[in-house]
Amino acid sequence: MGYHTSTSSAPLSEHALREEFVRIGQLMHSRNYVTATDGNISARLGKDRYLVTPSGQSKGFMRPEEMVVIDGEARPLSGDWELRPSSEILLHLEAYRRRPDIGAVVHAHPPTAIALSIAGVSLARCQLPEVLVTLGLIATTDYATPADPEGAVVIRDLIRCHDALILRRHGSVTVGATPWEAYLRLEKVENAAEIAFKLLLLGREEPLSRAALAKLLDKREKMGLMKPGERAAIEQTCGCDDTP
Ligand SMILES: [Zn+2]
Repeated sequence: MGYHTSTSSAPLSEHALREEFVRIGQLMHSRNYVTATDGNISARLGKDRYLVTPSGQSKGFMRPEEMVVIDGEARPLSGDWELRPSSEILLHLEAYRRRPDIGAVVHAHPPTAIALSIAGVSLARCQLPEVLVTLGLIATTDYATPADPEGAVVIRDLIRCHDALILRRHGSVTVGATPWEAYLRLEKVENAAEIAFKLLLLGREEPLSRAALAKLLDKREKMGLMKPGERAAIEQTCGCDDTP
């Protein structure tokens, strides 16, 4: 399996992935998607080999050599034994098991998305055309204790049909072919949350017309992003399945 940047078809080497983790960690930290030692990034290196960020470190100040290589049971294969893999890595490994098509997972703590999940405001909304095309509906998982094996359980079913999930009261999980793609999906998630929050403050929501939604879903299908059964689920959520 190859690992590609969003702008190049060349596979990323392990060396390049380590550099990419540093760059993405800096972006996550500077954009307030993670604070203190929160968050983690991983990438599939090959069969039963994954590169992951170290636990207990600020993601804004990592060095390439600090990343850890683990197997599918989260056992370190190489790297400094002091720099254990992230405690939330079980959640990443579950995503790889359920999604053979993905090459990377990003977990973060975007504040607006978390606040809305605590307030019970769903991000599975039908407001933003680009979000519907690129991510479909952003689902929210049940609550699980952070850094506990429960985290893998609550994403198990949803991650099969979604590239972006909100972990209730905790954070986000976004997946992609590359770490960069997974990171960009995180940006979309928090942006969608900020807009949803502003709409709540304004007290008004303008739904997309049925015709507009159909065009967007056609586009998602053409791009090969539509998951099995997803079109009907979106139409139902957006209230477009009952009128001609
Ligand atoms: Zn977390």
